[in-house]
Amino acid sequence: MPGEIDDHGVAAFSKRTRQREAVLSSLADHPGFVSAQTLHARLRQAGIRIGLTTVYRTLHALSEAGLLDVIRQTRTPGHLFAARPTTEHQHYLVCRRCRRSVTITSRAVEQWATQLGHQHHFTDVDHIIELSGICHHCTPTPRHGPARA
Ligand SMILES: [Zn+2]
Ligand SMILES: [Zn+2]
Repeated sequence: MPGEIDDHGVAAFSKRTRQREAVLSSLADHPGFVSAQTLHARLRQAGIRIGLTTVYRTLHALSEAGLLDVIRQTRTPGHLFAARPTTEHQHYLVCRRCRRSVTITSRAVEQWATQLGHQHHFTDVDHIIELSGICHHCTPTPRHGPARA
């Protein structure tokens, strides 16, 4: 019969949907990038019963769907995830200590990438540029600390 779904299918589907929503809302509630492990701990703390493998699988599915931004960690293995605020193309400058992130856009970079593509007769050229460093919150300033009003 068309449109008929067995009970098991419905249960599996709604469980997946709930997990996706839990992951997405946790990411949206906490700005900045997190690892799968940190997110898993956060979800468990919020009383959501979810396994680490499921967190990984959900994060992968969500990033495939274009709902997340994913960056590689430069000094430790693994990836970091954040909810994508817009569908606009942008880059991140991420603090390696606290994972605070700043979105950056650079017309020079975009033009360079497009030009290079043309030059080599490539179409639909995409690029991933990630910048990481230590933010001013994480840099000790012995003498010229920020003035506190
Ligand atoms: Zn920092
Ligand atoms: Zn770009």
